[in-house]
Amino acid sequence: MGTASVWAGEKEYLAHGATQVPVVHSVAYGYDDMDEWYEVAVGNKKGHIYGRNTNPTVQAFEDKVKALEGAEAATSFSTGMAAISNTLATFLFPGDRIVSIKDTYGGTNKIFTEFLPRLNIDVMLCETGNHDFIEEEVEKGCRILYLETPTNPTVKITDIERMVKTAHRVGALVVVDNTFATPINQNPLALGVDLVIHSATKFLGGHADALGGVVCGNSNLVEKIYHYREINGATMDPMSAYLLLRGMKTLKLRVEKQCDNAMKVATFLQSQALVDDVFYPGLENHPGHTIAKQQMKGFGGMFSFSVKGGVETVKHLLPKLKYANRAANLGAVETTVGPSRTTSHVECTPEERAAMGIPEGLIRYSAGIEDVEDLIADLEQAFQAVVKEVKV
Ligand code: PLP
Repeated sequence: MGTASVWAGEKEYLAHGATQVPVVHSVAYGYDDMDEWYEVAVGNKKGHIYGRNTNPTVQAFEDKVKALEGAEAATSFSTGMAAISNTLATFLFPGDRIVSIKDTYGGTNKIFTEFLPRLNIDVMLCETGNHDFIEEEVEKGCRILYLETPTNPTVKITDIERMVKTAHRVGALVVVDNTFATPINQNPLALGVDLVIHSATKFLGGHADALGGVVCGNSNLVEKIYHYREINGATMDPMSAYLLLRGMKTLKLRVEKQCDNAMKVATFLQSQALVDDVFYPGLENHPGHTIAKQQMKGFGGMFSFSVKGGVETVKHLLPKLKYANRAANLGAVETTVGPSRTTSHVECTPEERAAMGIPEGLIRYSAGIEDVEDLIADLEQAFQAVVKEVKV
């Protein structure tokens, strides 16, 4: 995986002896030969026509993701949300039914609760982790079973292989958002999933400087999604593709360090008097720990924790951290923290968050690649100061 992160997908796009993939900004591609132009335009010959359809830098990005996820094909998008919405729009028609879980990322949840119902698509959101219930709903019939595991922000785990078996019995497509796990820790296609989605903005890019999304799976399915995107236009920008491609070269190194840091910081937090609960699939008391151990190679760089005193404590604690960006992002080399009510689930009402089991005082922690002793010392000094300021 480390070798693929560095080398995969690039060779075909190198030009003039360059060792790095160029950023091709050209919007259109010219042809002197009218027959050749036609053959490329109708897809009989390889080549590029117009930037909304394809671009060499963007294709290099897609080819690297394809290699990392072990997929036949991949197609990319301007953002992770575009990847999700375009995938759903490709396969869902009025009158269809989709089954998912309550704990998907806030933006995805809004698609389920606000946008799909108005297209007369029936959405069933099940309690995450209640596998029997999800199976019952899938067996009633659905076009898509949509999963995210681990979830954002409470890192709940769903048994992918079990869900795939049930969904395929009723002819449903299984789509998994693999953003939190990354291809380093989890390969849903190898577990039978049909389509894997990433917000490339997060761990794949890893440097919080480019937006992007990607979907991979078999060629037949990906071709349909590509067609929807080439017409509807949520295309990845070549500069973003370049930044994401460069970021992916260090994916394995970064993610392994982030997993290690997350495990150590989460363990430290368990011993803190001000901490109510720590949610990390790597901890043995996490309800999804056993399944996570089976289907993941590492437990990921993301966890969340709730604090005594709720929002008040959060307001005092987070500004005191020296080594963390307080920002609505995750998966970067810098540790990034934020309350879920302001970040992943800002689109939801307090009642909706409560229904999803997201306390208002929940902090999402995306472990960076810093020296873990510094991260722990930073939290320690912040807690020591907060204890004096907040009455809990
Ligand atoms: N999926 C997950 C799990 C996410 O956390 C996010 C964003 O935080 C998205 C999808 C959406 O990605 P983007 O912000 O690139 O649209």
